[in-house]
Amino acid sequence: MMSYEEFVRKVIPYTPGEQPKIKNIIKLNTNENPYPPAPAVAKALKDMDYSEFRKYPDPECSLLVEKIADFYNIDSKKIFVGVGSDDVLSMAFLTFFNSDKPILFPDITYSFYDVWAKLYRIPYEQIPLNDDFEIEPADYFRSNGGIVIANPNAPTGIMLPNDAIEQILQKNPDVVVIVDEAYVDFGGESVLPLIEKYENLLVVQTFSKSRSMAGMRIGFAFGSEKLIKYLSDVKFSFNSYTMNQPSLLLGALAIEDKEYFEKTRNMIIATRERVKLQLKELGFVFGDSRTNFIFAKHPEKSGKEIFEKLREKSIIVRRWDAPRISEYLRITIGTDEEMDTLIAELKTILS
Ligand SMILES: *Cc1c(COP(=O)(O)O)cnc(C)c1O
Repeated sequence: MMSYEEFVRKVIPYTPGEQPKIKNIIKLNTNENPYPPAPAVAKALKDMDYSEFRKYPDPECSLLVEKIADFYNIDSKKIFVGVGSDDVLSMAFLTFFNSDKPILFPDITYSFYDVWAKLYRIPYEQIPLNDDFEIEPADYFRSNGGIVIANPNAPTGIMLPNDAIEQILQKNPDVVVIVDEAYVDFGGESVLPLIEKYENLLVVQTFSKSRSMAGMRIGFAFGSEKLIKYLSDVKFSFNSYTMNQPSLLLGALAIEDKEYFEKTRNMIIATRERVKLQLKELGFVFGDSRTNFIFAKHPEKSGKEIFEKLREKSIIVRRWDAPRISEYLRITIGTDEEMDTLIAELKTILS
């Protein structure tokens, strides 16, 4: 029998980390920043003129784009903004991945990439990371429809050096290469300077992690003027007003406060390095995280068991029931106090 359902664009959606409704939990499952946004954000929110909300926001997002341009000292024509980097990445998939050849990304990476590929009917191939969960650049030296690399990678936390990304760019001049730098501020090395050299490079970043604004939904991308124009044309063919007024203003204020940004990200890096030593002492194994999380497993206790025992103690981390990584826990770096509680609970669980 014919049914409208035959023609529905069906897709299995991405599952975000849970946002529990209960209070008094230690939430280390979605890589949120444990510190509040820059102080100017609180003040502007208090003083905000709500009567302005009757108007549409600026479709060009000029204020926010200018402030990002100032911070990174780059031409505003090379910047695109969206509703979190998820929106920017999704728009980039739709814009740039339109070939019959498969796009390439690692088997273990941000689990939204294959969802967008399926949604937009983009053929794709997942390239296995090596046994140390590293990307082998040579795996990407072949015919393809585009490349996406999260760097540092998620959920592994491991960074691919910039010269390796440049090798991938050199071998792939005919496709767009997207580098998702959601975590780069926690000790990675941005490939942003390479956009001057490679017209086909799109670098994507976000306010959600290092700038404490996941709830405001602000992401951005850098690329050649040409790439940004193509992205922008698709955006304006889709929804002229992706960014709302508060996000545009509060994002601009957040990125202006360089001192607060440096201070809070350095606190997170310091906490991470301390927690690495403590986890090591407890016998956990993990790669060299350059992010605000640690992806670790314990040789003697199953990931599932540790996950569940932590949960009983109201500590929520992230775990995937997926090949190669089911023993691992992805633990977001919280405040020092939260991490002390985590370590204390882990000691009990492992004893
Ligand atoms: C968190 C994350 C994003 C999405 O962040 P937004 O909140 O949408 O900006 C994109 N890529 C990776 C690898 C992430 O971890």
